[in-house]
Amino acid sequence: MTEPFRVGEVKRFPLQKLTEAAGARLRTGSLAAVDAERKVVTLENGQELGYDILLLALGARPREAVAGALTFRGPQDGPALSALLEKTTAGEIHRIAFAVPTGASWPLPLYELALLTAEYMSAHGTRGVEILLATPEDHPLSLFGPAASEAVSELLASREIQVETSVTPLRFEEGVLRLAAQRPIAVDAVVALPQLEGPRLPGVPHDEHGFVPTDEYGWVVGLTDVYAAGDLSQFPLKQGGTATQQADAAASSIAADAGAAVKPEPFRPVLRGLLLTGFVPRFLRAEATGAHSVVDTEPLWWPPAKIVGRYLTPFLAAELGLAETVVGPPGSASREHNARSPSPTGGSL
Ligand SMILES: Cc1cc2nc3c(=O)[nH]c(=O)nc-3n(C[C@H](O)[C@H](O)[C@H](O)COP(=O)(O)OP(=O)(O)OC[C@H]3O[C@@H](n4cnc5c(N)ncnc54)[C@H](O)[C@@H]3O)c2cc1C
Repeated sequence: MTEPFRVGEVKRFPLQKLTEAAGARLRTGSLAAVDAERKVVTLENGQELGYDILLLALGARPREAVAGALTFRGPQDGPALSALLEKTTAGEIHRIAFAVPTGASWPLPLYELALLTAEYMSAHGTRGVEILLATPEDHPLSLFGPAASEAVSELLASREIQVETSVTPLRFEEGVLRLAAQRPIAVDAVVALPQLEGPRLPGVPHDEHGFVPTDEYGWVVGLTDVYAAGDLSQFPLKQGGTATQQADAAASSIAADAGAAVKPEPFRPVLRGLLLTGFVPRFLRAEATGAHSVVDTEPLWWPPAKIVGRYLTPFLAAELGLAETVVGPPGSASREHNARSPSPTGGSL
């Protein structure tokens, strides 16, 4: 998502290579339905595949949440954002709002977009552009707890980014951002996060938003030998790091059931977020309750990646040849807290 700003570096990994490195076999195809009674999945081409244990990690579907806005779903919307930045430096746009809709459950990218836009304007010598961030949160990035909210508020203020908290952005029309039960805000452009919906796979239970109910080991409620992890699950925060923690819990349960000498470890979410600012990034960490809120300009984990997984990050780092810089066993406290290195400019591993 940082590509329009030309900061950081996005790494892409071929799935075939990763599956082989993990000792697994890759079979491509689109899953159409699950029959948990028969322990069979059906692919879109009609083919059936049997399984002993099934782990679903199908993600969520982004939907436009603020009509009329540029919905930023990820790299695919980079060109539209670049066009908006160009219009702004050309003097056609003077006031941009970044809108977090209700239901969007990973607001951090929008804060990054606002901060990086401010930095982009400054680097291009574009003056007089007002940037506003509108969010239903009580405080900026309140999911990371009070220390992070305070630090992020200061950061936004230092870039003169105006923040409207406790508001519900609805749509952008006729030069205003309309909010529920609040006065509209006059702006020239709005960038919003999408709302997410679960995949609603036939044979798999889901709530009204399509999300799959699971227990703390990722077991799909009501089905036998079917697990789910990541954005498709009912866990309200849709983040890569917590997705890996859900996957770890499911993997420990599956391994223990298969007779491995491991103790199943339940999902106990810890949030880790790397906020790119255009200058020194901020590392944010908190329990899912917002407790133990920590913010630092130095890495709180290693490698200092944007998607943090106890096993996934070192695994991907090894694929990039960075493994030798990693100290301590996977997930150990020493790895997380002793990891101090020169400040990165924000890699996007
Ligand atoms: C703009 C933006 C920035 C973000 N930045 C960060 C960040 O910095 N750090 C972070 O931790 N998180 C970030 N997130 C959140 C993160 O991207 C997601 O939480 C994470 O990708 C969820 O992983 P997942 O495996 O559950 O789903 P996904 O990553 O969506 O993967 C699901 C996969 O399943 C495939 N699939 C779907 N349906 C089927 C089917 N029927 N059959 C077969 N395959 C199927 C999809 O093609 C996809 O490859 C960001 C999100 C957004 C929108």
